[in-house]
Amino acid sequence: MNEIRHHLTDALLLSYAAGTLPEAFSLVVATHVSMCDECRARMESFEAVGGSVLDEAEAVAISEESLEATMAMIDALPVARQPANVSGPNAVFPSPLQSYVGGDLESVKWRSIGGGVRQAVLDTSGAAKVRLLAIPGGAAMPDHGHRGLELTMVLQGAFKDEDDRFSRGDVEVANEDLHHTPIAEEGMDCICLAATDAPLKFRGVIPRIAQRFIGI
Ligand code: ZN
Ligand code: ZN
Repeated sequence: MNEIRHHLTDALLLSYAAGTLPEAFSLVVATHVSMCDECRARMESFEAVGGSVLDEAEAVAISEESLEATMAMIDALPVARQPANVSGPNAVFPSPLQSYVGGDLESVKWRSIGGGVRQAVLDTSGAAKVRLLAIPGGAAMPDHGHRGLELTMVLQGAFKDEDDRFSRGDVEVANEDLHHTPIAEEGMDCICLAATDAPLKFRGVIPRIAQRFIGI
């Protein structure tokens, strides 16, 4: 496997460990962590810190009322979906993603969104959205900026933008400061898992019109 060079931020791993990330972003984090020893180790250290804070809190006498409130909060935390554990050595999708899709690449119900690009929006709760994108080699995604946070993880092929190259396992973390035009590398479709918490801002008029219909 090629080396992963672009990782998750501590802030993302912390909120994932705390159970406060929207489901769409949690799926990207879980998918990356399942492939990346480095981020998994950082995540485990955050979980250990979280656990020791909880132990200390328990040692302090907790009033009936605050205990009830704490238990209610724990009940409300999103439950991590069980990995399907069906990913073989040749699978494109790591197991957390396979359990969302219901299988590997061949199970995806793609919709064409123009320019040869296909997408499949995955079913998650909350306002943040997560989708699979298939971009033909050599093709560009529409030039766009971001209103919120965008996480893009590469599952197959590679893409480049103005600053960097991203290949299988790499995650690009984009926010309001970044305006970019990702281009898929020649050779094969670039397949990405992308989560956004706000609609993207497209520069061109046509993508802006198309946006209303495709819901990016
Ligand atoms: Zn990583
Ligand atoms: Zn972007």
